[in-house]
Amino acid sequence: MKDIKALDSQYVAHTYARFPVLIVSGKGSLVYDETGKEYVDMGSGIGVTAFGIADPEWQAAVTAQLGMVQHMSNLYYTAPCAELAELLCEKTGMKKVFFCNSGAEANEGAVKAARKYAAEKKGADYSTIITLKNSFHGRTLTTLAATGQEHYHELFQPLTPGFVHAAAGDLDGLKALAAEHKAAGVLIECIQGEGGVVPMDGEYVRALARFCADEDILFMVDEVQTGNGRTGALYAFMNYGVTPDVVSTAKGLGGGLPLGAVLLGEKVKDVFAPGDHASTFGGNPVCCAGALSVLRRLDEAFLAEVREKSAWVFSALEGAPGVESVSGMGLMVGVKTAKPAGEVVRTCLENGVLCLTAKDKVRLLPALNIPMDVLRRAVDVLKTACA
Ligand code: PLP
Repeated sequence: MKDIKALDSQYVAHTYARFPVLIVSGKGSLVYDETGKEYVDMGSGIGVTAFGIADPEWQAAVTAQLGMVQHMSNLYYTAPCAELAELLCEKTGMKKVFFCNSGAEANEGAVKAARKYAAEKKGADYSTIITLKNSFHGRTLTTLAATGQEHYHELFQPLTPGFVHAAAGDLDGLKALAAEHKAAGVLIECIQGEGGVVPMDGEYVRALARFCADEDILFMVDEVQTGNGRTGALYAFMNYGVTPDVVSTAKGLGGGLPLGAVLLGEKVKDVFAPGDHASTFGGNPVCCAGALSVLRRLDEAFLAEVREKSAWVFSALEGAPGVESVSGMGLMVGVKTAKPAGEVVRTCLENGVLCLTAKDKVRLLPALNIPMDVLRRAVDVLKTACA
């Protein structure tokens, strides 16, 4: 076998600071490198493989569709796309779905929906999108503009205009920005993931949703990381008792194949007309067949198990030696460690556990169906690394 690490280093653009690990196989929450060393996967591809690696139900759904039609243009109908849209709407109360390929692209679709809605309702000058400081919404030029973290912006000016950033929790500040900038929409993460696993305050989110409804400013929730069962609810907004006008999602929805979705609520269900928006691969039947197998299993009983595992993780880590605090919801967990997070993650890796970081925290996003014994093993390794 060629030296894959050397090959990658020579030929793949250096946009990722990779760990020195080559993963060749896996099953569920366990993955293996080329030497056969086993790791517990506590990152699930950054919240993607919701039911783990080589999940048999997802594999069966995907391979069955592969054997029929792997792709059709969106000029024609395919069953998995329509059925997935129906299921998403039934489970969320949203009314229509636009499918795309990634989280950034889902957010781009949300922004387009808000701008078109506002232009038609209030005038084309109502185009500003308000997002929050410390947010993360993606890496395209528009979603970088949406991302409220300056350091991502620096090398890539000029970004798409029409984005301003409010401090999370400061509703008066956001109201002032909305008045000054003629807002079309507000886009928030209920839990800022890349920003360090920071949950928003419930009162703030509900007051923000009410303000948006009163002003007819679209209330949009980025559920790319928090969605599809990750927080112990099907979507994180459900933990907050709010009804968004637009929801963007991706990651776990496809279970490992690229799939994003923009869920459009009552106000915007008909905002897009033919020609307004499109994506060649959006709604690909293989990706949608896999997503159907994921979404069908995210029922109340399964989500209750996610919440139980979450409660166990929080109780195991809170107050443990070297753990300063634990944040998050469900199986989206941020651990503030006394040692630098990078050092803790490296020690975990050496001891057979793959963890992530988010800002100065260790971040855990295991598969939602991780067995309790595997979860215990991983948390024990993490606790030892923290101490
Ligand atoms: N939005 C949020 C909240 C995310 O966490 C991410 C990725 O981490 C994105 C958007 C971008 O998603 P993608 O990398 O699929 O474009």
